[in-house]
Amino acid sequence: MQPNSVPFVDLVTQHRSLEREILATFNEVVRSAVFIGGTAVERFEHEFAQFCGTHHCVGVASGTDALRFALIAAGVKPGDVVVTVPNTFIATTEAILQTGAEPAFVDVDERTYTMSAEQLQRYLEKECVRDMDGKVRVRTSGKPVAAIVPVHLYGQTADMDPLLDLSEQYQLLVVEDACQAHGAEYFSERLGVWKKAGSIGHAAAFSFYPGKNLGACGEAGAVTTDNDRIARTCKMLRDHGQVKKYHHEIDGYNGRLDALQAALLSVKLRHLVEWNNKRRHIAAHYNSVLGNVKADVLVPYEAPNSRSVYHLYVMRVPDRNALRASLTHAGIETGIHYPIPLHLQAAYREREFAWGQYAVTERVASEIISLPMFPELTREQQDRVVDIVMEHIGAVAVTS
Ligand SMILES: *Cc1c(COP(=O)(O)O)cnc(C)c1O
Repeated sequence: MQPNSVPFVDLVTQHRSLEREILATFNEVVRSAVFIGGTAVERFEHEFAQFCGTHHCVGVASGTDALRFALIAAGVKPGDVVVTVPNTFIATTEAILQTGAEPAFVDVDERTYTMSAEQLQRYLEKECVRDMDGKVRVRTSGKPVAAIVPVHLYGQTADMDPLLDLSEQYQLLVVEDACQAHGAEYFSERLGVWKKAGSIGHAAAFSFYPGKNLGACGEAGAVTTDNDRIARTCKMLRDHGQVKKYHHEIDGYNGRLDALQAALLSVKLRHLVEWNNKRRHIAAHYNSVLGNVKADVLVPYEAPNSRSVYHLYVMRVPDRNALRASLTHAGIETGIHYPIPLHLQAAYREREFAWGQYAVTERVASEIISLPMFPELTREQQDRVVDIVMEHIGAVAVTS
């Protein structure tokens, strides 16, 4: 790395500051030799449910498992259709497909990059019909639409009130993909309260992949829900469908959260609020400099009814690739989340998705760039990033 380089994320600094706590906890678990289940897992589940404001948290092996288990437990069946967005990480659709259901997409809102309620309504009205029992089915295939998966992208929740209205009107299950939104909040107009991500739909999936706002020292995830039956089914699904040893009530998976990860997550959860606040401060500083420079340079939009936890700081510029090159040249790492919308991925080339179907996602995919964002990012590092971006924007202004 060059001397003035700025990483995209820095997990080393964070873990150095927690080393003592982490090693003490690690030793405790190793000495107990309880590696699967046990008190460490139960303790973390209890703490994280409290943090999210839900009755239950079920620890699982990854965010992808959490999504898959939440969908199955909520009632999604093979042959169903589950609606999500094309601007997300592929795990969202992998989990849908792994339940035996089929993903359908609706486009995102141009400002928040999360599921557009207008687009969902258009899909349900134009591309679906209701059968005799009021169930909504896809017009062309006749398949029942069972659920929606709004993705709380970049740390901001989707605008859930209108999505919940539609889900009630059309009897759809709602599984939140909260894998990027630990601690994000949404003001529910319907309830008159701020709700945490993960406590808004029927169930929600969290990932504790190391780079997430709350990250394990390995793979981990969780389902949160208020529903006893969903929680119970998720507990069976993660553990070979068993209710007790060798009594397998349903066909399940090996998708458990292990005790080491759970114990380390308990340590880190104590810092999550502070880390999220730091991310919000960093975002505010980026915004204060980059927010009003040029009409076609867009900083993240935070809706008044939401509090983002800035998993990512995603700005938008027309000449994204050139800006990215300037930053790379200056030793500043950036990311693109995501460069290829899911409907255009090679994995889905056999499906009937086509270029032009989701115009907002496609347009945005060529213009978004994620700047360095992590709680330990220093003001000096941030100013270096901002300087290069400003210089680049200035250069563009002169030549255009
Ligand atoms: C990280 C992520 C996932 C998957 O989580 P894993 O723990 O990597 O399986 C799913 N959805 C979104 C939006 C994510 O960012």
